Amino acid sequence: VLGRIPSLGRRDISLFLIDMAAPGITPAPPEHMLGNKTSPTGNIRLEDVAISAQDILAPPGDGLQTIYDVISLDRLLYGVLAAAFLEPVTARLLDFVHERAAFQHPLADYQYIQGRLTDIKFRMETTRWVSYGALDALVRGAPEASLMCSIAKHEAGETLRLGTEQELRILGHAGYMVGDSTRRLTDALGTLIAGGTAEMQRKNVFTQMVQLAR
Ligand SMILES: Cc1cc2nc3c(=O)[nH]c(=O)nc-3n(C[C@H](O)[C@H](O)[C@H](O)COP(=O)(O)OP(=O)(O)OC[C@H]3O[C@@H](n4cnc5c(N)ncnc54)[C@H](O)[C@@H]3O)c2cc1C
Repeated sequence: VLGRIPSLGRRDISLFLIDMAAPGITPAPPEHMLGNKTSPTGNIRLEDVAISAQDILAPPGDGLQTIYDVISLDRLLYGVLAAAFLEPVTARLLDFVHERAAFQHPLADYQYIQGRLTDIKFRMETTRWVSYGALDALVRGAPEASLMCSIAKHEAGETLRLGTEQELRILGHAGYMVGDSTRRLTDALGTLIAGGTAEMQRKNVFTQMVQLAR
């Protein structure tokens, strides 16, 4: 949990752990989201919850710096995940386009269909390798680490959106029937928002560009 300790003055953001079974903690019911049903979100109400000194992570007031490092890792992991998530999707689509025929030819013969599959592959590999680059920069403590992590997160959301939308298009009617492909698309849309929206990644990339140029 990130909280404020007003007596510390301007730098008052502190990071602490809570035990969800502790008195004073009331979780609200899970929110009803469009997708990502296995990862429910919801508010947590804290009222007079006791925290011991060992539950405070990083010195009080330094929580923001610690959470920035955690957020950076979280951002690049979206990129690694996006590429890995689309691997089995493209493998199944490759089978599908060879099996399904339209106008007496397998779909795989049509360049528009090939283009949809290669678009997914371009985005997957770009996202994967920018994420590996971001991880390398983060581990080395390189100045461009934060910028690279935001690029990885931005690419991850867009790649998942594009990949799952292309899947739905390639599958045609079957793709639009409520099932695995529609679930993947609605889950993917959540990654445009969760972990920081596209606008927030752009904002950070611009801030970092300005700082790195100085
Ligand atoms: C599937 C999912 C899972 C989530 N999981 C978690 C979780 O585990 N923990 C957690 O704490 N939160 C979680 N969230 C919440 C998520 O982090 C926030 O929804 C997200 O950071 C955006 O914040 P907001 O909804 O308050 O949007 P707002 O800040 O209200 O912004 C609304 C819109 O305005 C844009 N905007 C805001 N400020 C600016 C600006 N300065 N310039 C340009 N555009 C701007 C935003 O990008 C967005 O498009 C989750 C959300 C989703 C959808």
